[in-house]
Amino acid sequence: MTETAPAAAAPQATAAATFATRSPATGERLAEYPVHGPEDISRVVARARTTQAGWAALPASRRRELLLRWKKAIAEDLDTVARTIAQETGKPVGDAELEVVLTLEHLAWAARNAPRVLGRRGVRTGLFTVHQRACLVHRPLGVIGVIGPWNYPLYTPMGSIGYALAAGNAVVFKPSELTPGTGVLLAELFDSAAPEHAGLLTTVTGAAATGDALARSGVDKVAFTGSPGTARKVMAVCAETLTPFLAECGGKDAVIVTADADLEAAADAIVWGALSNAGQTCAGVERVYAVREVHEELCARVVEKARALRTGAGADAAYGPMTLPGQVAVVERHVSGAVAVGGRALLGGPAAVRAPYVAPVVLTGVPEDAPAMTEETFGPVVTINAVAGVDEAVKRANASRYALGAAVFCGSGRTGAAIAARLRAGAVSVNSVLGFAAVPALPFGGSKDSGFGRIHGEEGLRAFTSVQSVTVQRFAPAIALTSFAVPAATRERAVRLARALHRRR
Ligand code: NAD
Repeated sequence: MTETAPAAAAPQATAAATFATRSPATGERLAEYPVHGPEDISRVVARARTTQAGWAALPASRRRELLLRWKKAIAEDLDTVARTIAQETGKPVGDAELEVVLTLEHLAWAARNAPRVLGRRGVRTGLFTVHQRACLVHRPLGVIGVIGPWNYPLYTPMGSIGYALAAGNAVVFKPSELTPGTGVLLAELFDSAAPEHAGLLTTVTGAAATGDALARSGVDKVAFTGSPGTARKVMAVCAETLTPFLAECGGKDAVIVTADADLEAAADAIVWGALSNAGQTCAGVERVYAVREVHEELCARVVEKARALRTGAGADAAYGPMTLPGQVAVVERHVSGAVAVGGRALLGGPAAVRAPYVAPVVLTGVPEDAPAMTEETFGPVVTINAVAGVDEAVKRANASRYALGAAVFCGSGRTGAAIAARLRAGAVSVNSVLGFAAVPALPFGGSKDSGFGRIHGEEGLRAFTSVQSVTVQRFAPAIALTSFAVPAATRERAVRLARALHRRR
């Protein structure tokens, strides 16, 4: 998208204001989008509500068919989608293609599994309810407001959008102001695949004020992905109307490397996990705790691999520019701060932090209370600290205000899984990094400053439903307890029976 004409798929804005997107690499103007305000959003949400009624009434198999048609449309237009992502974020086209591929996997899983996961399910009744048939039903919530970030502008919001639609909801999507084109394209492709349900997924564009208006618009849930600071603001708005809220925020993910780990594999994964997408990955590797015996060798291998990477523009670059210009100052503060308090730069250092391309930085010996260890850096920087053993590594990994993902490199998968169980993280990969993000059946999300709630997997489908419990009385009960006409003797018999049963153990 190189024109500056307003994007077609976004609804007409009542206000005349527009904003432009720019290439993070060159500053070149890419396109212009309307700034949608409260009135526009009210209109879009009302339309979504009408459309949703028809969508929810469809048999689940028909919704699956239409979502798979949308998936096919995205796959057929993969090149355009990847190019749009690459233009808006600056990431290499190959990375953007991988993002689309992962997105397709998730959409396919949500579409195919929603009927099974959300279908009516019978449950057993109890001693005093044998006369009832009981079941639970997952009902869509209605209209979901999705507020997305810029770092994975397709994959991340699809974790909410695809699953919410599969569960029978409509979605109003507010992408980041840095990546509106990707959001607009996504809705356009939905409309082209399911024109009879146009309005079910609408992308509105704008910055914080547009997101705020969406949170205030009466949607039935807000699914937010972004920084914890913004999550707090949006949650406060949702609290006013008790609108349910889901928060997928940042991370400070740790990797633990044990003495018997395959150091070559660990170094390879750490370099990719820390530096791909210029380190702008919520569950990217930011801290490594390596046991003392292997610390030096691991550092040497990481430095050698990171040094060999080419950063910059073009398809052969390992990673591209910092997408958010303001983030460079945060990275600079973390790297300079780490060095100022005794950390050593094994590669890069403060001089490597230049806009828009930040060269890889590998640090060691950084005090645990330095901002480089406590705050999300969101840049191509990794710290590798030595620890006495696994216990210390686990303690340090868990001593973060974030708790999103983690990884363990260990000679035995079984021991790795035992270490994983001690980690306070929403997801852990053993002998790989970010393995969990590519398995659609696995829920994703964190705790503490990383947010709460889960996207992906069965939990990610249920997150966009409310469960309704239903009983159907099959015959009049022998011991009726829900009537004023129950004789005292019947009640006493029930109490005797319950006491006899529950006293046993
Ligand atoms: P951000 O918090 O600046 O913005 C996120 C979204 O919120 C944007 O669409 C923005 O326009 C909107 N927004 C800003 N102020 C708002 C307000 N007052 N009311 C409503 N909406 C508002 O985050 P970002 O810089 O776009 O994204 C980077 C952050 O996202 C990082 O912390 C990263 O770790 C996190 N992230 C988390 C995940 C995850 O799944 N856990 C995935 C990707 C990114």
